[in-house]
Amino acid sequence: MFRAIYLTRSEDNQTHAEIKALDDSALPAFDAGGVTVQVDYSTINYKDGLAITGRSPVVRKFPMVPGIDFCGTVTASEHAGWKAGDKVILNGWGVGEAYWGGLAQQARVNGDWLVRLPDALTAFDAMAAGTAGYTGMLCVMALQRQGVQPGDGEILVTGATGGVGSFAVSLLSALGYRVVASTGKQAEEGYLKSLGAAEIMDRAGLSAPGKPLQKERWAGVVDTVGSHTLANACASTRYGGVVTACGLAQGMDFPASVAPFILRGVSLIGVDSVMAPRARREEAWARLAREMPRTALLEIAQEVSLEEAISAAPKILAGAVKGRIVVDVNR
Ligand code: NDP
Repeated sequence: MFRAIYLTRSEDNQTHAEIKALDDSALPAFDAGGVTVQVDYSTINYKDGLAITGRSPVVRKFPMVPGIDFCGTVTASEHAGWKAGDKVILNGWGVGEAYWGGLAQQARVNGDWLVRLPDALTAFDAMAAGTAGYTGMLCVMALQRQGVQPGDGEILVTGATGGVGSFAVSLLSALGYRVVASTGKQAEEGYLKSLGAAEIMDRAGLSAPGKPLQKERWAGVVDTVGSHTLANACASTRYGGVVTACGLAQGMDFPASVAPFILRGVSLIGVDSVMAPRARREEAWARLAREMPRTALLEIAQEVSLEEAISAAPKILAGAVKGRIVVDVNR
């Protein structure tokens, strides 16, 4: 038997979340390449908040075990790449949405989806980063691929106290970039500065409709917020600058004009972690293991039990969570 967060949907379309003891035989079967993992830690991401509360239809079938991230040890493998005892990380691939996920003591997934836990990281460290840290690193890699260098100018990070934002601030400042952190939580100035932010900016200045072209400021942007914030970030990016877009905490809309792209040569780069190819995931995790300051990792993460994870779900949707929630699924 193993314990899991178990989501069901009632006839009136309400999602119900409970802790349930499940038989091992309930784990999903795979035609080939299935790998069973004893989970150490999972996390609560924004998307897990949506799944657990049912606020948005991210869960594609019920009953569902949520959890888009996990880290643990392989206990059985029908996949040539994995054997019992291997330490593995999973992020995305529709796990916790279409396939049972990591908010459980056991999981079974397709072995193609797993990444090896780098030696320098513990299972806790890996989930302190989780999808947020890995996505923050994908944004950093995208800025670098586009040639943005520390000497080019300031980098704006929006939703800065959130999971992706916290990692982006820390990783970019560790690489020598001057990071300006946009937040709605002015009281967290000390937190953001401890992660390396050079300056804090009130997100209210970015979240309302703005002009199509504004004073040029950013050499690069990591936007986790979308909507008017992303439009304003593009409008205030310098000639030839690069905006990476990965999130929608303010909204999925993009009420912008083409002016920054056609008059200033600004590039808008989409960042997706869910279906990102394996080589890019491995590079992101290897870099997280090397470059993420451990002090920042511990500053960003707070740990909760499996039961507490259910009540954390509405809080993350309310934007009330600072940093990352790591879930000890065995507590
Ligand atoms: P968090 O909830 O941890 O962080 C989001 C942050 O955005 C909040 O902490 C808050 O930061 C800010 N925010 C919240 N509501 C609003 C609002 N109405 N207007 C402006 N800012 C707001 O989420 P994550 O960091 O885990 O994820 C961030 C976004 O990125 C989410 O939309 C998520 O779905 C997406 N995402 C996408 C991925 C991909 O593959 N593309 C992968 C991972 C996440 P503050 O108070 O500091 O302003």
